[in-house]
Amino acid sequence: MSPSFLSYVHPSPTSPWGTYLSQVDRVEPYLGKLARWSETLKRPKRALIVDVPIELDNGTIAHYEGYRVQHNLSRGPGKGGVRFHPDVTLEEVMALSAWMTVKCAAVNLPYGGAKGGIRVDPKVLSRNELEKVTRRYTSEIGLIIGPHSDIPAPDVNTNGQIMAWMMDTYSMNTGSTATGVVTGKPIHLGGSLGRVKATGRGVFVTGREAARRMGLSLDGARVAVQGFGNVGSVAAELFAEAGAKVVAVQDHTGTLVHEGGFDMPALMAFSQANGGIAGFKEGEKVDNEAFWDVKTEILIPAALEGQLTAERARRTTAKLVLEGANGPTVPEADDILASRGILVVPDVICNAGGVTVSYFEWVQDFSSFFWTEDEINQRLDRIMVGAFDHIWAKGEEHKIALRTATYAVACERILIAREERGLYP
Ligand code: GLU
Repeated sequence: MSPSFLSYVHPSPTSPWGTYLSQVDRVEPYLGKLARWSETLKRPKRALIVDVPIELDNGTIAHYEGYRVQHNLSRGPGKGGVRFHPDVTLEEVMALSAWMTVKCAAVNLPYGGAKGGIRVDPKVLSRNELEKVTRRYTSEIGLIIGPHSDIPAPDVNTNGQIMAWMMDTYSMNTGSTATGVVTGKPIHLGGSLGRVKATGRGVFVTGREAARRMGLSLDGARVAVQGFGNVGSVAAELFAEAGAKVVAVQDHTGTLVHEGGFDMPALMAFSQANGGIAGFKEGEKVDNEAFWDVKTEILIPAALEGQLTAERARRTTAKLVLEGANGPTVPEADDILASRGILVVPDVICNAGGVTVSYFEWVQDFSSFFWTEDEINQRLDRIMVGAFDHIWAKGEEHKIALRTATYAVACERILIAREERGLYP
């Protein structure tokens, strides 16, 4: 594993950046002559660390650390979400930005990869404090973001309201309304229909395609989902609509198991109203670790990185893993899943539906012409199915796992652009 050029980042084999580096190492043999450029993938182009001071409601001054990393801009402007979480680190944001580079190239969007984050627990902030943190952070990273340079979007614990504050702050600082500076905005501020559900929808579409190829019928298939935000809940809802049974759900409030399958609309409404699934009328509350032992055909990790460890990979009964989250599977677990014949649809294609509709939003903002939800869903379906087919064929050609196949398709596109642009000066 090659070391990061940022000497104060110390990746381990299971940390996000360490995981990413070993994923790049695995694709190198399939890059042919382009491999001479592959080191470019192992270092972010640019990383900005900012101090975000705000006055709390009680009068004290709090400081938070914020980041914006632009991993690669060879194919277009940076693109990627902003995460608010107490565990955010530079190393994590580096990995998340790199996964955006690979993801955007895997679905052939004209973007590079970027990511941002603030090391803060937004759940303990008032709305006023959250707005201040968001605006100050946006102002600080305003040096490097913009509709043609780097376009943030929602990620863990950020949403349309936060994107509205980011858009407004950037616009106030530059003197004109720039709707294209962020995606995932509310509809009447230049947001796109279908954006909120797009990531979950993409997980479903790629899952459906993978299941078809494996001969796994969705009708009656058991689904377990970890994370019940807008990725996990929407994916689970779409699988239930397709005839599957959602038998286990885990979120930050606990784990519920229900062999008969949850009433998904009711569980989603309950979770929205109560801030989590705990206390829902159906299902049995079990220990969080028991989630990984539930009998299931389809496992959807849709929470944070590093959840599917080697040990959990040995225990799961799933036949198909759909990575709704970014980086949920550590490399050793990938090998174990492969040796057990379990198919993994990797994050960089599985959850690419979100950034795909972000791209639609950005295009609509520039043309000021907005599409219907049907048009958006149809285009999303077409792009995801096309990308999946291409990646599947690559996997068959080289007899490699889908993750390495996705990296082969994406990294070839990134490095061709790198080579064609050439080194400057
Ligand atoms: N945060 C999402 C992701 O990880 C979406 C990013 C975007 O829409 O730019 O893919």
